[in-house]
Amino acid sequence: MIGARAVGNGAPGGAPVRCPGCGALVPGIAGTPHRYIGAAAGCWEIYESVLAKEYGEYRYPQPTHRLTVDAYAVQHPGEPSPQAIQSVHVHLVGLHLVLERGVEGAAVTRALRAVVRRSAGLAWLVPPDPNGRMTVLDVARALDLEEHARLVRDWATDVWGAWAAHHAAIASLAAACL
Ligand SMILES: [Zn+2]
Repeated sequence: MIGARAVGNGAPGGAPVRCPGCGALVPGIAGTPHRYIGAAAGCWEIYESVLAKEYGEYRYPQPTHRLTVDAYAVQHPGEPSPQAIQSVHVHLVGLHLVLERGVEGAAVTRALRAVVRRSAGLAWLVPPDPNGRMTVLDVARALDLEEHARLVRDWATDVWGAWAAHHAAIASLAAACL
């Protein structure tokens, strides 16, 4: 659940808004944070705070960091566009390889580059509703790396599960890109 504690820098914002991607209630901050990732500015700010912890005190933990980036992108698919279609496929393949096939490190990076090379032939995948039940807000409350890694994996597993209608297509794309 979404806690009542303040997030971000504590600056007064507008009324909470529902993120169009993950559905979480987030601080109502003006602006569009990303060109094709469909996130509310308040949600993006929380995501950036989580990334800052991963780059800083958690020392870039893998595969946790990859799962964070993949889960967030898949949970904020945006509107159909070539960039959004490519992004959703790349990050779904990332979730599949790490969570279901135990592939890690450079092998995942190579496979995701291969997905990008094939992106002209990819079509929009209709996102599930709901697009997972956990959000980056659940991850943001972790107090240490161990809890963070566990929550990220739970979140990524939850989001991946929500896209079950597309699992077969993603598994076959991943197999062709390994
Ligand atoms: Zn969101």
